[in-house]
Amino acid sequence: MVKLNTFVELGIKLVLTAGSAFFLYRDARARDYSWLMWMIICIFVFFTPGLIGSFFALLLVFAIYFSTRPKGELTPCPHCNKRVHNILAFCPFCKRAVKRECLRCHETVAWDAVICPHCRSTNLTDS
Ligand SMILES: [Zn+2]
Ligand SMILES: [Zn+2]
Repeated sequence: MVKLNTFVELGIKLVLTAGSAFFLYRDARARDYSWLMWMIICIFVFFTPGLIGSFFALLLVFAIYFSTRPKGELTPCPHCNKRVHNILAFCPFCKRAVKRECLRCHETVAWDAVICPHCRSTNLTDS
């Protein structure tokens, strides 16, 4: 009986930590945040003794993650369609530019823009 409980407990812990690790990986990578560090933290959470211990450790991890991750919206990359943090100039997945640069005032411009909102120039980079 004790063995079965331990087995079930380990199973729940595994699903809980693996699910959180998957979410953190996706979100951190899209924001170009240190996803590797969060994966290591998830491994530590898994080895926290007891189910309740792991559960509270996870709550703490999420609280820290959400207060420290780079703020902003995720928008689809125009090349690979993966969701990417909107302040990034390059997609962390396919490494291609997700913003254009104005060749006149050198401001970054949205990918779908045809005219620079800063100086009204239409001379934008095309890759
Ligand atoms: Zn991409
Ligand atoms: Zn401009």
